[in-house]
Amino acid sequence: MTASLADLAKRITDIVPLKPPVDPASLKHRELVEMPDYRRIPAYKDVSEEQFLDHHWQAKRSITRPDKLLEALKGLVSADFIKDATEGFSHAPMSVRVSPYLMSLIDWNDPYGDPLRTQFIPLRSRMLPDHPKLGLDSLHEREDAPVPGLTHRYVDKALFLPLDTCPVYCRFCTRSYAVGVDTEEVEKTHFKVDEERWARAFAYIASRPELEDIVVSGGDAYNLRAEQITRIGEALLSIPHVERIRLATKGPAVMPQKLLTDHEWFDAVTRVVELGRSLQKEVVIHTHFNHPNEITGITRKAMQRLFERGITVRNQSVMQRNVNDTPEVMRLLVKRLGHVHVHPYYVYVHDLVKGTEDLRTTVATAINVEKHVRGSTAGFNTPTFVVDAPGGGGKRDAHSFEHYNRTTGVSVYQAPSVKPGQFFVYFDPIDRLCEEGRTRWADPAQHQVMIDEAIAAAQAGMR
Ligand SMILES: *Cc1c(COP(=O)(O)O)cnc(C)c1O
Ligand code: SF4
Repeated sequence: MTASLADLAKRITDIVPLKPPVDPASLKHRELVEMPDYRRIPAYKDVSEEQFLDHHWQAKRSITRPDKLLEALKGLVSADFIKDATEGFSHAPMSVRVSPYLMSLIDWNDPYGDPLRTQFIPLRSRMLPDHPKLGLDSLHEREDAPVPGLTHRYVDKALFLPLDTCPVYCRFCTRSYAVGVDTEEVEKTHFKVDEERWARAFAYIASRPELEDIVVSGGDAYNLRAEQITRIGEALLSIPHVERIRLATKGPAVMPQKLLTDHEWFDAVTRVVELGRSLQKEVVIHTHFNHPNEITGITRKAMQRLFERGITVRNQSVMQRNVNDTPEVMRLLVKRLGHVHVHPYYVYVHDLVKGTEDLRTTVATAINVEKHVRGSTAGFNTPTFVVDAPGGGGKRDAHSFEHYNRTTGVSVYQAPSVKPGQFFVYFDPIDRLCEEGRTRWADPAQHQVMIDEAIAAAQAGMR
């Protein structure tokens, strides 16, 4: 019967004028590294495949101190790189946590260019001064938090932060500077405090009939114990008006092993999803892949397991310079996510975060990349590119600015269903602007002038 398929293809070519054969490069999203070549790294050269695939081993061997991280790299990278990274860590006092799996996916022959290194290991030589308007946001964050660890910004949804640790710490995360209490002792005391805090968050949610959608985010649901997943899931699902829950975790991108070997955790998540389903409520996982290299054969197996249990997984990426800010890389990421049953949901234009100016891109870059991604795959697998408007406007479609001045890099958004009547301003990184824009930002007296100009232009355009 297989021969007849070839026959059929032959006959079709005889009768129908065919499109030219597919460019094999366009199928690259299906070519995954099945098993990372972790033995290249001296520290893992005697590690068995069974160990490498075990989440306990991955967690235990995750590196949580800059000096340990750099020690593990001795012999792999140049002394100059080590020095650069040492100074990078001392200038960006972020928490460190890198799994052996991540370490094994970085190309240590090109540590400067590697997109995973770029996300987790800061280099002093690459740092840029922070944008002068960074920090505008903080007050509004607090205004939107009725209970510590619960942000109620949008009408019908809230963000609940049950803990402050993650399986990895990312340079681009605002929280990476605050999270990271990792020793056993500290964790215990923190959880006690948390339980009370959780109860207050649940009570608040129960008191607000408009809240239908709860995001359980980070910290990271990967770091919740199985019984904590159950407790949070049952508490939220028992609130009549809560209809949708998302469990947010970066875990699948940095330690897919857990989905294959931590049966207790996996079963706890499954039971919450099934309890939700029996109550006509949706429980899904939101994850966070940023680069196609983060998806391997291990990821595929892990995501297949979730798929077989009927668990929906969506992805939110952060657009980062030299990581995923080109049409080629973003297209490959989006198609590869689809290939492993993950729905690309959002791509965020990078927030203004301390010490990460070298990672940010412009709104114009995001819009251009979006143009190339759209049309490359199914519409429901095509992410929306959003700007999380500083000042609490929430996520806005990057295209929906009222005004955007590409010279000054100032874009103006409105959020009529979140904070009606207000203008929200986002700033492109200064080093990406043309000379005129850079010159104006060099003069502090011009800063407010540029913002006022942009808002006036937005108002004029809306009339
Ligand atoms: C992102 C976010 C949500 C969820 O928003 P969606 O657009 O539905 O994904 C909810 N609350 C806060 C504070 C958020 O930042
Ligand atoms: S895993 Fe998520 S919450 Fe944790 S540091 Fe990374 S981006 Fe931030």
